[in-house]
Amino acid sequence: MSPNSFDPTRIRLSPGELRGRVIAITGPTAGIGNALALECARYGAEVLLLGRNVKKLETVHDAILALQAHDGGAIAAPAIAPLDLEKAVAQDFDTIARAAQERWGRLDGLVLNAALLGQPMPIEEYDMPTWVRVMHVNVTANVALTQTLLPLLRASNDASIVCTSSAVGRKGRAYWGAYAVSKFALEGFMQVLADELEKSTVRVNSLNPGKARTQMRRQAYPSEDINTLPNPATLTPPFVALLGPQARGVTGCAFDAQPASSSSSSTGT
Ligand code: NAP
Repeated sequence: MSPNSFDPTRIRLSPGELRGRVIAITGPTAGIGNALALECARYGAEVLLLGRNVKKLETVHDAILALQAHDGGAIAAPAIAPLDLEKAVAQDFDTIARAAQERWGRLDGLVLNAALLGQPMPIEEYDMPTWVRVMHVNVTANVALTQTLLPLLRASNDASIVCTSSAVGRKGRAYWGAYAVSKFALEGFMQVLADELEKSTVRVNSLNPGKARTQMRRQAYPSEDINTLPNPATLTPPFVALLGPQARGVTGCAFDAQPASSSSSSTGT
């Protein structure tokens, strides 16, 4: 399939789609990242869980081990690395890279999923300390993490970076403030890095999951009936497709996990 016609929502995934791949995911302790971590494990990946709360990380770890027990060993045990994107310094990123280097010598996937919503607020009134926090977690820390892990991704013969985007990071919308601007920046980061890595074995793309039944969505739309929204588990196949071998050669592209009518308009996150 040519990169131009690749659509991650239409890829038929095989049961072993991610077998043999090592995939790092930020924010695997809730929402979309949690559903994705379990799904990557189900498709055979060894998952590196990067999160700020060790207890929650252990819960995800145990959930994957429970899948393993159920599937008779076809599922690989995950690894855990504590990482608070707001507080991490260079040494913390280095520690993760060193541990991954020792354990696997490479990484085949990195999903930049963890994010902060900040406050829905007009730019004129936006609280600047919140702005800095959101931009740091959603952009700068992701760039630092990617930069530190890049040698490991380059060591893979088929590596994929997926930046988790948003409808408001592709078309600006009033009151989405730092969150929207941070997602625009992540899209820009994806394009710049994809261009720089064009001749390498590392591809970089963005994926907007669209609205999903998660804590972040609840925070953005407190009066909405969250039960009417898609379960995050239903949105993971396009992520898996981008992480797997069928997306080889596809880079620098912005994708949607749901049709535009259900993921954007006035109801994006
Ligand atoms: P969520 O349920 O709020 O989960 C966010 C995840 O990020 C949690 O695992 C959280 O960890 C982690 N996180 C937050 N701050 C962190 C930090 N400082 N360091 C490390 N981890 C941190 O969000 P979600 O709805 O699943 O969103 C996942 C991604 O999809 C985000 O990039 C979001 O922008 C995007 N998205 C979501 C929607 C939607 O409708 N939900 C729509 C479009 C795009 P804890 O568990 O420790 O809190």
